Amino acid sequence: MPIPSLDFDPSSVALPQGHFIGGAHVATDEEPVEVLRPSDGRRLGHVTQASPMTVDHAVSNARAAWETSGWGTRPPRERARVLTRWSELIDEHAVSLAQLEAVGSTRPVAQAYASDVPFAAEALRFFAELADKLGGHVAATRRDSLGFVSSEPYGVIAAITPWNFPLSMCSWKCGPALAAGNAVVVKPSELTPFSTLRLAELAIEAGLPPGILNVVNGRGATTGAALTRHPDIAKISFTGSTRTGAAIMRDAALRGTKPVTLELGGKSPQLVFECVADLDRTARHVVHGFTANGGQACIAGTRLIVHRRIADALLDAVQRQLTPIAPGPTWRDATCYSPIINLAQVRRIEALIGQSVAGGAQILCGGARFENTDGGYFFRPTLLANVTETTPAVREELFGPVLTVQTFEDEEEGIALAGHPIYGLCAGVHTSDLGQALRAMRRIAAGTVWINRYGRSGDMIIPTGGFRQSGIGKDLGREALEASLRYKSVLIDFDSIEPAAG
Ligand code: NAD
Repeated sequence: MPIPSLDFDPSSVALPQGHFIGGAHVATDEEPVEVLRPSDGRRLGHVTQASPMTVDHAVSNARAAWETSGWGTRPPRERARVLTRWSELIDEHAVSLAQLEAVGSTRPVAQAYASDVPFAAEALRFFAELADKLGGHVAATRRDSLGFVSSEPYGVIAAITPWNFPLSMCSWKCGPALAAGNAVVVKPSELTPFSTLRLAELAIEAGLPPGILNVVNGRGATTGAALTRHPDIAKISFTGSTRTGAAIMRDAALRGTKPVTLELGGKSPQLVFECVADLDRTARHVVHGFTANGGQACIAGTRLIVHRRIADALLDAVQRQLTPIAPGPTWRDATCYSPIINLAQVRRIEALIGQSVAGGAQILCGGARFENTDGGYFFRPTLLANVTETTPAVREELFGPVLTVQTFEDEEEGIALAGHPIYGLCAGVHTSDLGQALRAMRRIAAGTVWINRYGRSGDMIIPTGGFRQSGIGKDLGREALEASLRYKSVLIDFDSIEPAAG
């Protein structure tokens, strides 16, 4: 049924409260953490920060639920039915979930409704379908033995998520972990906690045993660290910055050598060769690549590497497409352009642009905040030319709508410029020469390469994850389910089995 308008009053949205433990909201009188609305800087509400004691309660509760509920031992198809029902409930509550996501995050309500909510539901459906498709294999052993590899869940997995796509990130973590039979304790970002709490409520309504999905709120240094260090956390699945990923990896090494999946930052190139078929179309990919969610996406394509002969024409097309971009609160249906998450992040963008300009970079457009935004944190799409690989805006993940522009003369130079000394999350390659596209694909060190497109599709079977300091392991795809299982090797010498007496 078509939705007339998704416009809503931001003060009318009901916010789930507390932590979510054992299938119920748990209020505590711990330190409050204020949550602001990026669209106007006003207070949205607060969560309380889970102390190590509350984290211990959440993990112990999950561990007990995992041991007693039979979630990990029931047939995978039964788990699949619960996940499928959860995805249906998400679809049924699409409007209220989109509004809850939009009100305190950078996601405009129309985009949350059209992509974040259905993508979250689809990810759960995908892992439900995969639940009984993977699980081990028979090994080619000696003829008098039978060897096989059998899978089992870890137990309790910690899932720590960032603020930029809260619903999707939660479903990408919970889908494979739960399908594999684990319990999960999620810590959403303290900046965008509410939609994750609502997802947890819906999971219980779908039939997930209480305690199998718990949520604790709070900042990373306190709540996040207590969670990752907890002795009953058997595995950590993290999405966030490279710096935090490194801290979590260190903690995991020191507190039990736990496996980690780390989905981290990026500084991805858009490599445009001379023979692109349609310059306007390529410009659309470039613009979308660095402005989607206000540039606050790990996969943002923020380094344009373009052949010198088409650089001016492409930049004209890009600037033409940037002109109509206008800010608007995330609770307006018509809003297409996201605010920056908070003032600290705006200042970081400004500082990195300032340092880049001091080093010789030239601002072609943008470079400043939008004015008259009623307190919202909106930054103009910005193009920076005259940059080199040492320019701060080229080296650092800036997490804002800033595109640096470098030109090249030949294929070799273009591919070399597309590489990055730190990150290797994604790359876009644009050319009508298939051989050239595949040569570039082979040589760029990135976990994902998109050819003549930029951005993920709804194909959940394609895993996502970075090379180098962009991460370890994959979300989505078969790989994410496999990473939620541990594998036991079994060898049976059947020639030595004594026949039973009688
Ligand atoms: P962040 O690293 O600051 O925080 C991410 C999460 O980790 C939050 O929940 C935070 O509270 C928690 N945290 C912080 N310190 C912690 C600690 N010491 N121990 C445990 N938990 C801790 O990242 P952010 O600002 O929320 O998100 C933006 C970053 O996420 C960007 O770098 C972006 O590229 C990355 N990201 C990566 C992907 C991917 O798939 N590779 C997807 C989305 C975002």
